[in-house]
This record gives sequence, structure tokens and C-alpha cells, in this order.
Amino acid sequence: MSKNVLVVAETKNGKLRNVSFEALTIAQSVADGGEVAAVLFGSGAAAYLEEISRYGAARLYVSDHEALSTYTAEAYTQALASLIQEVQADIILMGNTAIGKEVAPRVAARMGMGLISDCTSVETNEGNLVFTRPIYAGKAFEKKTFCKGKEFATLRPNNFEKVIKPAQTELVSFQPEIQDLRKIVKEIVKKTAGGVDLSEAKIIVSGGRGVKSAEGFQPLRELAEVLGGAVGASRGACDAEYCDYSLQIGQTGKVVTPDLYIACGISGAIQHLAGMSSSKIIVAINKDPEAPIFQVADYGIVGDLFEVVPMLTKEFKKALV
Ligand code: FAD
Repeated sequence: MSKNVLVVAETKNGKLRNVSFEALTIAQSVADGGEVAAVLFGSGAAAYLEEISRYGAARLYVSDHEALSTYTAEAYTQALASLIQEVQADIILMGNTAIGKEVAPRVAARMGMGLISDCTSVETNEGNLVFTRPIYAGKAFEKKTFCKGKEFATLRPNNFEKVIKPAQTELVSFQPEIQDLRKIVKEIVKKTAGGVDLSEAKIIVSGGRGVKSAEGFQPLRELAEVLGGAVGASRGACDAEYCDYSLQIGQTGKVVTPDLYIACGISGAIQHLAGMSSSKIIVAINKDPEAPIFQVADYGIVGDLFEVVPMLTKEFKKALV
């Protein structure tokens, strides 16, 4: 049966997030002949029409409502809820990003819909959509399906293919009713600038307490730079003030799924694994051969990271020029 799918797209630092294209690709496969549309909140959203049209959306909904010019969960929730009603979407997909985690449950609760969050795969079985999501900090996976109503899911970034499917996308302006906002954003002060976005990085070089100091992160930064990747960290390294908490990966940090995750001086505590164990290839560098990280690693190097990491950087530099 054909279904109308609405994808909630997102930008970060002036660029559409990859997960939006991944969601549009999934939308194509589940619409079954229904319409795929996208919505993009924030000022200047219309500028992304061409890029959105490369991924097959029939419409792009934008709004110049002042309350949506900067992100607030309250305003986005009200706007998205009214759009879902207006376009009669059967399936709503968005990234399991910081915004997705905040807005999706609010919209679902407001509209009395079910929500399946942090999905790592979406399949069809006998006409029903089956969503797979990790549970128990990634130790197991559960498969879930909706038994009634609209289907709303958030997708873990970097887990789905993005496939270009050019379409004629109509730009549609809508005016949601947004009222009784309890807060407004006065100013945004960015903590970190530039670099590769950790949650969408294809390669992550991550450091733990074994890095020993803030300066100890420098060889990791150099390796990440050569590989075009991002630097991450364990909570051990953040707690020891070797790096900023914005780099923390794990249960209480970011969840990442890069193609390559290089763990340097990280023991592999369950809370850390919760954030990185679904990486496609894991390389662990640790001087303790018994470190639990080796149990999830595809490649293990037993050795001192201060010797191994510079050697890798040197070899990759040679290989990549
Ligand atoms: P350690 O466990 O101290 O490991 C350091 C490793 O470095 C050791 O294996 C050692 O052999 C190795 N090493 C030392 N020197 C070198 C060297 N020169 N070369 C190579 N290897 C070396 N942790 C997270 O990471 N993310 C989370 O989100 C998170 N959330 C948590 C939530 C809760 C509720 C709790 C209770 C804990 C959480 N933790 C989290 C903490 C977690 O339990 C671990 O304490 C933490 O991951 C340990 O960090 P680490 O591996 O860097 O440090």
C-alpha cells in the first residue's frame, strides 16, 4: 500500500546533514508509490532545494516563521506537528541527532503517535515496516513494528546508504501556528569550530586515558588529519581534562558509526562500547593485551600508542600522497 513519507531534514554549519539524504533514500524505498516530501526548518531553507531534489523529494516544505529561524524544541515541535497533520504523512523519518532526539518524542507525544528511535535498519516484511534498533548499550538488537497509526522513526546517522535519485522538487512555503513559546534563543555561542563533525565522520581517531595528557592528543589529531577524520575521546580522557566533553563517545556521549574507528589507549568499558561498537572496522591500540577493547576490535595492535600512532601517520602520509 502506498504511503506518504515526510523526512525532517537538518542542516549543520550551513550544510545539509548526511543523515537527511540517508532518510530520503529510505523514504523512497518505503513509500511504495506514495509521495516523499521533506521539511527543513530555519532561515534560508529554500537555498537547499536543489540538493534536496537530488534525493527524490517531490516537495520541500519551508517556513519563514520567525520562531523557526533558530532552533528551539518547542517551536520545531509545534511546527512539525502541524505539518504532519497538514500533509497527512503516514511515515515520518528524521535523524537520531541532538535535534531528532529532542523533537521526535515531543511530536509523538503531542500527536499520540508511536516512535521508534535510533534505528539502524528498516526492512519490509509482509507489507509491514520492521525497524531494528540497538538495546542494552548495543549488546542486543530488537526488531519493532507499528501495530497502528502513523509510523515515526529516527535513524542513526551513517547507517544507511544515500542514493541519488533526481526529482523535480516543488518548494512549498507553509505557515504553522506557533504559540505560547516559553523561551526564545538570544544568542548562540559556539564551543568548537570547524573540523569534521564527529557524529557523521567516516573515520574517527579516538583517545582514552592512555593518552595521558592534553598534549598527548596531538599525535591523534595528526593521524585524524591525514585520514580526513575526526578526533573523539573516551569519558576517561574527558574526565581527566585531556579534551573537551564535546568529543566524548559512549553511552553518555555521542553515538558514532564510522567506517573506521581507531581506539588509542581506551580500555573498552561497556559504556564506551555503547557509542562505537557498530563502527564498520575497529582498530584498537593498547599496551595491555588483555584490554576488553580487543574483544570488539577487528584489528588489534598491542603496543605503546605514542610509538604506534606516529608510525601510522607516517605510513598513511606516504600512501595517501
Ligand atoms: P581506562 O579504563 O583507564 O583505560 C586506559 C587504557 O589505556 C588502558 O587499557 C591502558 O592499558 C591503556 N594505555 C595506557 N597507556 C597506554 C599507552 N601508552 N599506549 C597504549 N595504551 C595505553 N565512558 C566512555 O568512554 N563514554 C561514555 O559515554 C561513558 N558513560 C558512562 C556512564 C556511566 C553511567 C558510567 C558509570 C561510566 C561511563 N563511562 C563512559 C566511563 C567508563 O566506565 C570508563 O570508565 C571509561 O570509558 C574509561 O576510559 P578509558 O578507557 O579512556 O580509561
